[in-house]
Amino acid sequence: MKKPNIVILGAGYGGMMTAVNLQKSLGVNEAHVTLVNKHSYHYQTTWLHENAAGTLHHDRTRIKINEVLNSGKVNFVQDTVVSIHPEEKKVKMANGDIEYDYLVIGLGFEAETFGISGLKEHAFTISSINSARLIRQHIEYNFAKYNNEREKNQERLNIVVGGAGFTGIEFVGELANRVPELCKEYDIPREQVRIINVEAAPTALPGFDPALVEYAMNSLEAKGVEFKIGAMIKEVTPNSLVFEKDEQREEIPTNTVVWAAGVRGNSIVEASGFETMRGRVKVREDMRTNEYDDVFIVGDSALIINEETDRPYPPTAQIAIQQAENVAHNLKTLVRGGKDLEGFTPKIQGTVASLGHDDAIGVVGSKKLFGWSASVMKKVIDNRYLLKLGGFGLLMKKGKFNIFH
Ligand code: FAD
Ligand code: NAD
Repeated sequence: MKKPNIVILGAGYGGMMTAVNLQKSLGVNEAHVTLVNKHSYHYQTTWLHENAAGTLHHDRTRIKINEVLNSGKVNFVQDTVVSIHPEEKKVKMANGDIEYDYLVIGLGFEAETFGISGLKEHAFTISSINSARLIRQHIEYNFAKYNNEREKNQERLNIVVGGAGFTGIEFVGELANRVPELCKEYDIPREQVRIINVEAAPTALPGFDPALVEYAMNSLEAKGVEFKIGAMIKEVTPNSLVFEKDEQREEIPTNTVVWAAGVRGNSIVEASGFETMRGRVKVREDMRTNEYDDVFIVGDSALIINEETDRPYPPTAQIAIQQAENVAHNLKTLVRGGKDLEGFTPKIQGTVASLGHDDAIGVVGSKKLFGWSASVMKKVIDNRYLLKLGGFGLLMKKGKFNIFH
């Protein structure tokens, strides 16, 4: 009997963990498993804000795919997906086509820019190793340039972060740690540098526990972060950001705008003809698309509804990892001729957000955490993922063990 071809697109949390789970559960004679990814490495998106601020080197965040996967069991193809053709059971890549019997789409997220003028052209986003490395170098270059110009240019030292969701808050937390180091290195007084977080909603971290939000804002303000709350970003130019607050238009001179104000699913999925909402495909209970019995979706490309609130679950790594276990299990069932696929229900264990290296906030179960204990919890969560992905060896190589830093 012909072995079925299982093709996984994207080596993010969803794609990578699907591959790892299949590697463990399927025998080599049962299926051909291929993982396609544009880089030779997997990266932990949840650490990218640290790479962007320069508080953690990006080589800690990325992991060589062939160090985690067994090439005898999973074939890795480094290529860029261009389009998906489900009617033909085919995927077009930059360097060739690949055919499948079962497809898993895990192409992740991209920034949602809501058509705001100048954003695509002039703002940075924290969305990959490449984009995070660019932000770090851009900030450093501006610090280096500042004292080399006759006319002191404040645009170089105003760092503006759009959105005070979890990404924006975690990023300004890292900046608050990094900026004093940069000031020392480039002989710039700390009070000269502004870190400004602009949020449209009436509060930072809308929807999160109000007491923890207050703790986070107080802690970040004490480290020099300025918040503009109820301030809707309207425009970005090469040297300014414009927002509206209380019907007043304000402009901040800056050449560093980091947009962290929303995500959508990878546009390749939508462009390939799948029905999407903000780029995410609404899936059946068993994680297959409504139209195709042979196409599964994992991670930020998938849209699943929380029945209690009747709203989509937020796209998170936590859910992507759990979905990958479900998808791998269902693929195993199909490959072995079974028909009863398992439905997926997320088990939300909590949410913890860092506020720099030694501070955090979070809710775990029914418990609220803040400060050092939350910060330790965040590292425990990160380390648990590494253990799941690549065992003890990977944990020792990439894990976060310094609980005081
Ligand atoms: P991704 O992690 O986005 O991975 C997609 C993969 O597909 C990448 O490897 C990419 O290179 C590859 N790819 C993309 N396009 C192509 C193409 N055309 N061809 C080939 N390969 C391609 N969630 C949490 O649960 N906890 C957290 O603490 C947390 N912190 C976060 C911090 C930050 C700064 C950010 C930005 C997000 C955070 N999230 C967190 C959200 C979480 O990172 C995402 O939900 C998660 O990364 C989604 O996983 P994924 O597998 O869908 O895709
Ligand atoms: P988000 O959508 O959660 O937050 C975006 C924020 O930007 C919102 O507060 C929104 O009000 C604001 N915003 C939107 N348009 C704006 C405008 N024009 N001007 C000013 N503000 C504007 O996006 P995110 O923070 O990037 O998070 C994406 C996903 O990743 C979420 O599901 C989040 O839960 C997850 N995540 C989790 C963690 C964690 O668990 N520690 C960390 C980062 C991200």
